[in-house]
Amino acid sequence: MNTLPLAEPSSVEAAEASLALARELQPICRSITGDGLRETLRILNREVPLTIREVPSGTQVLDWTVPNEWNIRDAYIKNGRGERLVDFQKCSLHVINYSVPVKATMTRGELEPHLHSLPNRPTAIPYKTSYYREAWGFCVTEQQREALGDGPFEVCIDSSLKPGTLTYGELLIPGSRKDEFLVSTHCCHPYMANDNLSGIVLSVQLAKRLLNSQPRLSYRFLFIPGTIGSITWLALNDSSRIRHGLVLACLGDAGGFTYKKTRLGDAVIDRVVQHCLSYSKTPYAVRDFIPYGYDERQYNSPGFKLPVGTLMRSPNGGYAQYHTSDDNLDFITRDALAGSYEILCAIVDVLEHDGAYLNLKPRGEPQLGKRNLYDRAQDDTLALLWVLNLSDGAFSLLDIAERAKLPFTQIRHAAQRLTAAGLLRPLVNHE
Ligand code: ZN
Repeated sequence: MNTLPLAEPSSVEAAEASLALARELQPICRSITGDGLRETLRILNREVPLTIREVPSGTQVLDWTVPNEWNIRDAYIKNGRGERLVDFQKCSLHVINYSVPVKATMTRGELEPHLHSLPNRPTAIPYKTSYYREAWGFCVTEQQREALGDGPFEVCIDSSLKPGTLTYGELLIPGSRKDEFLVSTHCCHPYMANDNLSGIVLSVQLAKRLLNSQPRLSYRFLFIPGTIGSITWLALNDSSRIRHGLVLACLGDAGGFTYKKTRLGDAVIDRVVQHCLSYSKTPYAVRDFIPYGYDERQYNSPGFKLPVGTLMRSPNGGYAQYHTSDDNLDFITRDALAGSYEILCAIVDVLEHDGAYLNLKPRGEPQLGKRNLYDRAQDDTLALLWVLNLSDGAFSLLDIAERAKLPFTQIRHAAQRLTAAGLLRPLVNHE
């Protein structure tokens, strides 16, 4: 059986590399199309070898159409003295993502319907989009809004919205089997760190780890714009080999884990993630699937029924900083990223090493003492006995770990010891 290097990189190294990459990506104004998304993927491609795809605007994808490409160079609201009161160059959240171009002088009254702020969070800039309805607007802090004055203002959004392409990045790491594990992360959000620089940078670290191993499963990483990206990928690609999947988002904040189950609810990935979380020493919550959230909605739609869960820490919509400028680099921590990386590695580890074994001395209990297998901690002995008892070919190591209420790693170690002692052999799975 192939093995993955245990700690390459270590979780702290992976978290530090993640933070450095997040810092580099934060200033880029991303969207569901355009140069910001392209530049983001170009940087990711420096880290891991991506295939970058460009899908033309107007392409029919399932029930959707790839939209026009949006690009933005600058935007501001200036006062009569030419001072920038609101400045896109300072924070890309200041403009409603996908705003059509504007260049006008206007009064406060004319500008007012195009201003968005958060009265309950007066120092935060909200994140707003208008992808499928042509609109424009500025997102400002409540304090900025109050201090704007009456105008007149010079209002400029130097953007373009015209036929181009939708860009996404893909990486397939082939394993010894063609069965795939899908890791999908959305790359369309500007500025914000937890949602979703955290998902992007951890996907990169996980991909790096897998690129350094000879995995059993094949791993497909998708770096895509939210919703339209997964719909585009599903429309244009073969998803029939996907056996397990995770959407990764919001994995850098200090909250406990949230796992949103697949539509099926008891897929292997659901069991594996819950098993790993139960031994992670971090608080966690498990939620049933609902058809609202991230790209899992598309993967779990009834025409695909792909078993794709969603792993987060604080869930989308479930924290005060969500979709605001307060979801910044200060909101994500090295420790949280390290813990998230560890759980991802643990999940991969279970899927890589799960399998059924056959007890070669099934009549009665083999004598462990004479094989020097009886001198360990009680838990270790119990793990040996469980593996022997349930290894009649019908149960996998994960089944045994769940039933024995012991960590998969301990059950797997027991299976290795018993195999070495000639009491067990792996049942080869000819997939
Ligand atoms: Zn979001």
